[in-house]
Amino acid sequence: VLITFEGPDGGGKTTQLGLLADHLRRRGHTVVCTREPGGTALGDKIRCLLLDPANAAMAPCTEALLYMAARAQHVAEVIAPALGRGEVVLSDRYADSTLVYQGTARRLGREDLDAINLFATGGVTPDLTILLESDDATLDGRVAGRGDADRIEGEAAAFHALVREGFRELAAAEPDRVKAVAADGGVDEVHRAVVEIVEEFFCR
Ligand code: C5P
Ligand code: MG
Repeated sequence: VLITFEGPDGGGKTTQLGLLADHLRRRGHTVVCTREPGGTALGDKIRCLLLDPANAAMAPCTEALLYMAARAQHVAEVIAPALGRGEVVLSDRYADSTLVYQGTARRLGREDLDAINLFATGGVTPDLTILLESDDATLDGRVAGRGDADRIEGEAAAFHALVREGFRELAAAEPDRVKAVAADGGVDEVHRAVVEIVEEFFCR
């Protein structure tokens, strides 16, 4: 089973992924936690290229292909083997991030990205996606609180507004797979909402 966490920067994906992993392990599942861009040694090198503010001149297509290259390695090396062993894979971001960040916010559109995503993943798609949504003030505050922004966190407010809009559209387009959770509340409250969604998914 592949469960992905998606949403804008500052939504608490990493925290919630860890809490869900603990929960599922207590329930007896074997859980693999991973993230994008990254998840492999090669992918982490690509991540460094993507997030380095010195690479401000990166063209949108280059950016999309680097995310895809990292994803191809991630699927081949981590996700597909774990799924083959029957494990639960929790990924902090996956293909939806590309559709939103590069497709919507960088305006590359959906068609080409769908095709390249298919090429990169071999058709491995999430069974369930948790979308952590917060209001703008919460998100901005959390990102600002982290100190030095990466290349993408340092983008203009208009870019981040498109990202947030893109994620809302994603949830509306695929309500069976993508479950939005209001992530403004406390960590425990959000965790309980995530667990409820995941338990319901396992009972399907
Ligand atoms: O979630 P995390 O902060 O680790 O993501 C790293 C950065 O990459 C973030 O700034 C995120 O906005 C960006 N990103 C992106 N396009 C993707 C995936 C992540 O711009 N497809
Ligand atoms: Mg981030």
